[in-house]
Amino acid sequence: MTRLMEQVAAASADPDERNVPDFVAAMLNEAVTRDATDAYLEPAPQGYRIRFRVDGVFEDVEGVSLTLAERAISRLKVLSKLVVYRREVPQEGHLRHTLDGVEHDVRASFFPTVRGERAVCRLFRRSLSELELGGLGLPEAIVSGIEQSLSRPQGLLLVAGPAGSGKTTTLYACLAYLLKQRGQFANLVSVEDPVERELPGVHQTAVNTAQDLTYARALRSLLRQDPEVLLLGEIRDSETAGISVEAGLTGHLVLTSVHAADGPDAFLRLVSLGVEPFMAASAVAAVLVLRLVRRLCPSCRRQVSDREWEPAGCDACRQTGFDGRLPLAELLPVDADTSQALRQGLSSRELARQLGDRRTATLKDCAEQRIGAGETSRGEACRVLGNSGP
Ligand SMILES: [Zn+2]
Repeated sequence: MTRLMEQVAAASADPDERNVPDFVAAMLNEAVTRDATDAYLEPAPQGYRIRFRVDGVFEDVEGVSLTLAERAISRLKVLSKLVVYRREVPQEGHLRHTLDGVEHDVRASFFPTVRGERAVCRLFRRSLSELELGGLGLPEAIVSGIEQSLSRPQGLLLVAGPAGSGKTTTLYACLAYLLKQRGQFANLVSVEDPVERELPGVHQTAVNTAQDLTYARALRSLLRQDPEVLLLGEIRDSETAGISVEAGLTGHLVLTSVHAADGPDAFLRLVSLGVEPFMAASAVAAVLVLRLVRRLCPSCRRQVSDREWEPAGCDACRQTGFDGRLPLAELLPVDADTSQALRQGLSSRELARQLGDRRTATLKDCAEQRIGAGETSRGEACRVLGNSGP
């Protein structure tokens, strides 16, 4: 029985207020120990249950009594400096959790459901010094391509991929790189929704729609302060798309993300948001496309052919066969030829064909390389890449 389960058993047997802080600490400790990115405390058919998300996959952890869960949620709210008695509105806050002398940033969010409140704790364990472009596991050619784009005085670096593909971490690593390059007096600002972690040296603002501080509004007023580098969490609407592109054309380096499947798709997303193809072609410096695959557990992976391995399962990986995650990436730098193709306003397919050979390597190539090196399995790569998988 792990410490958490002992704690749950003890606290459930005697759901005394005094046990609650220990229980909450045990839950977060267990999440950190398992390398979880999120810990969920959510209503279940009977009482509540704890689930963790590890390497992008849910793990059921433990059932918890209703009384204990409700007290734990109140405790989490107190730690996050939120209003405990407000259970009918979503709330979001921050707390710090320390285990073995290492401090972890936790973003706690609370959401009302028909069965009760659901609490999600997102854990950020990487220290700032570890938040480096070279430490993300990206292929070297891609890292140097990104660094090249970041050395430009202006333009957009678009990071594309679905939710949970490492876009935010990568954008933060880009900011950390720029801070190092340009020094602490560089004028770096960010608008995020929400601010996931604090970066000393960067002026960070969180979007607050309740206060009418939208991406577009924050952007417009920030640009008047003439920042050198601007990190914008995500381009979601046409107004934000327009302002970002304009900023990228008028002396600002803009780092941002779009919800798009690949490089050509990222451009078409801008165009669908009302940006003229020639504007997109002039403003965008590069598109970085990301996915995350689970890494085969090196202690138990099984070789099935000379170029392929499969997951097995051992104590080290809690029988999952996987341990941690690795990025798959492709970079599409926009040069004169690419720019020319983009200006023609081609369809996605035609654009993909014309831009195909300009990419460093495709996501698929990157996956093949990882499969051949025994870093991930073919099944895992297909799970992540879907139809376009290897
Ligand atoms: Zn293993």
